[in-house]
Amino acid sequence: MLCVDNFVTGRSRNIDHLRGNHSFKVVRHDITLPLTAEVDEIYNLACPASPPDYQADPVQTMKTNVLGALNLLEVAKGRGIKIFQASTSEVYGDPHVHPQPESYWGNVNPFGPRSCYDEGKRCAETLFFDFHHKHGVEIKIARIFNTYGPRMRPDDGRVVSNFIVQALEGEDITIYGDGSQTRSFCFVDDLINGFLQLMVSAPSFTGPVNLGNPVEFTIRELAEQVIDLTGSSSRIVHCALPVDDPRQRRPDISLASRELGWRPTVPLSVGLKQTIQYFDRLLALESCKLAE
Ligand code: UDP
Repeated sequence: MLCVDNFVTGRSRNIDHLRGNHSFKVVRHDITLPLTAEVDEIYNLACPASPPDYQADPVQTMKTNVLGALNLLEVAKGRGIKIFQASTSEVYGDPHVHPQPESYWGNVNPFGPRSCYDEGKRCAETLFFDFHHKHGVEIKIARIFNTYGPRMRPDDGRVVSNFIVQALEGEDITIYGDGSQTRSFCFVDDLINGFLQLMVSAPSFTGPVNLGNPVEFTIRELAEQVIDLTGSSSRIVHCALPVDDPRQRRPDISLASRELGWRPTVPLSVGLKQTIQYFDRLLALESCKLAE
């Protein structure tokens, strides 16, 4: 297995447990540049996914999505292999159709602060289909909805890690806006099972297919659950709502359940407990290191 990463947002400690494995190799590389890889299939997951991360260098984000897809599609075409694309619920933008089926074309601002990610991922889907139709490349496109779990960075900036770290450290919990906006949170293990099932599906099944947990929560409900599960004394405070923040998001997963027999199995409370445990250990470890 070849792991390609430029480690802009990924942490190398997340793959430490794989380093002793002789069939696992890591290459530091930026996929906006061409690459050769002697592999039998490709999973393209490259791109920062947290809004503050992908907005920090929007041009690089767009290049990662578009040039990265192009470079990997060239590898897939040259080798005649199957390629997976991590697309996103962000292709639906601030949706007018709820929940979102794959047939909905979305409501995306083409020049807002989120566009580098939303439009970059939309363009990548287009490239995938063009390579499929023009060159017969076997493609598998998953539209991923909000995912969380162990191995996220404490300073990732997304809502689940922010709330857990704030709760564990007794800091204020920062709800952006009034907290009535919704998201549907999928535990990482469920998502990965979806990837694997998609990859072994019939060659005629290209997707795009929604992969996400269809149980929807308001951001205020998420804050309350995190406070409850951590037993934290943190207060909830309200901050400005970011520009173009989608009001609501919930996947329609009927296609995934019909074509892949997939549905998430980990309820939010169970996944949050595991994620809280992970951050609790990580923060204790990091504060020990600082004290040394
Ligand atoms: N959010 C929040 N507090 C935070 C971080 C995020 O209230 O500390 C909100 C954010 O405005 C959005 C939702 O939580 O409405 C999910 O944000 P996230 O950045 O996790 O992912 P998004 O779905 O927006 O890409």
